[in-house]
Parts: sequence; C-alpha cells; structure tokens
Amino acid sequence: MSHQTIGFDPKLYEYFQSNSLREPEILVQLRQETAKHPMGIMQISPEQGQFMALLVQLMGAKKTLEIGVFTGYSTLAVALALPADGKIIACDIDEEYTAIARSFWQKAGVANKIDLHIAPALETLDKLINQGQANTFDFAFIDADKSNYDNYYERAIKLVRSGGLIAIDNVFWGGKVADRNIQDNRTKAIRDFNQKLHRDERVTISLVPIGDGLTLALKT
Ligand code: SAM
Ligand code: CA
Repeated sequence: MSHQTIGFDPKLYEYFQSNSLREPEILVQLRQETAKHPMGIMQISPEQGQFMALLVQLMGAKKTLEIGVFTGYSTLAVALALPADGKIIACDIDEEYTAIARSFWQKAGVANKIDLHIAPALETLDKLINQGQANTFDFAFIDADKSNYDNYYERAIKLVRSGGLIAIDNVFWGGKVADRNIQDNRTKAIRDFNQKLHRDERVTISLVPIGDGLTLALKT
C-alpha cells in the first residue's frame, strides 16, 4: 500500500523511479531486507524517503521526531540527511521490528543520531512535552497507528517550532478515504483527520500525492 506510490501507470512509475531515485546502497539493502518481512508493505516508498530527506535538508533540520519506525527505513532516510550533530527521537512499541532498524542504523553509521523509545508513542510525546521540549523540533513524521493520528498531530504541533514541519503518512489510506461505503475505524479516523487538517488555521498545508499520500503541515 505505501511501499510504492499509488495510482501510477506502471510504465510511468518505472520511468519516475529510474530517472529520479538516488537511493543510497544501505537503504537499498534495508528495503530488500524489509521486502522479505511479512509486514514489509508498511515501509514507505524509496521516492518518499528521498523526498523527506530533501525536505529535512531544505529546512536545515537538526532535531526531528519519528512516530512509527518499523524496520527503520524512513528513520534512516532522514538520519542520513541530518548533519552530524542532528538528532531523531524515534517512537515504536515493537522490539522485533526495531531490532532490524537498529542493526541498519549501526551499519549506516548513524545510530548515534537516533534515540529510539520503545513505548506507546503518546507516552513518549507527553514526556517530551513535560520535559519542556515543546517548540524545539524542526520536523516530525507521523506514521504509527492510524486511530491515534489526531493525538499524534496535537502533540507534534506542540513539539515543533514555529516554521517547523509535520509530515503525516497514508492520508489516502489506499484510496479508502474517498469511498463513503467504507466506514471502518481506521478509514474514518484518517478521513476525519484529513477534514480537520483542511480547516486547521494553525498550519499551512499541502497534500503531496507521493506514496500513499503525505500531508505536509507547516506550523505558522
Ligand atoms: N515509518 C516506517 C517505515 O518507513 O518503514 C513504517 C511504520 S509502520 C507503518 C507503523 C509502526 O507503528 C509499526 O512499526 C508499529 O509497531 C508502530 N506502532 C503501532 N502502534 C504504536 C504505538 N501506539 N506507539 C508507537 N508505535 C506504534
Ligand atoms: Ca506509512
């Protein structure tokens, strides 16, 4: 669903990738490893990783948040784009998925940039807020359990600085958000969240149709 960009003609997608992807070898290896995993489809697409790396570079970001790590592809794409003194606070609940992530971060030589917190992300984010880290993050990527998207967004908007960017993944939810006959909890949560963001005057937004839909929300 999100390990590729959806809605593309296969020929054009092949062209898109072969004429714009510059995927570092370590990310190629992690993508190949993740493809063998039964939940491998959860990984972001390589073109999305490249796009997020560009955003982070463009902003000169130094301190970022990652909510939903899995095998660590998006975290690694961002870590490689951060300066040597950059930091990512990464949140996940799964030791098994993130063991793969940790080994690739180490291989890539960026493990020192990443603090992984194994706990429900809401707990980690509330802790950061209580520790006085509000308004200190440059960038946040939201890609964990969809029913908590609004909760993650409300924490992220506190934690990023003014001019900081929040990127929210899977906002198309494989196209289900546009089908009113689909009313399961996760689809409804993303649909409601998209509507809320459309009206949210605290941010400037753009929904980028890359991967499974990535909304960018710039805190004004
Ligand atoms: N960004 C990752 C990538 O590019 O490969 C994919 C993340 S995957 C879609 C979602 C992750 O969220 C899973 O690894 C899952 O363990 C984690 N997750 C689910 N519920 C969570 C929670 N309450 N707190 C933190 N992480 C959670
Ligand atoms: Ca995703």
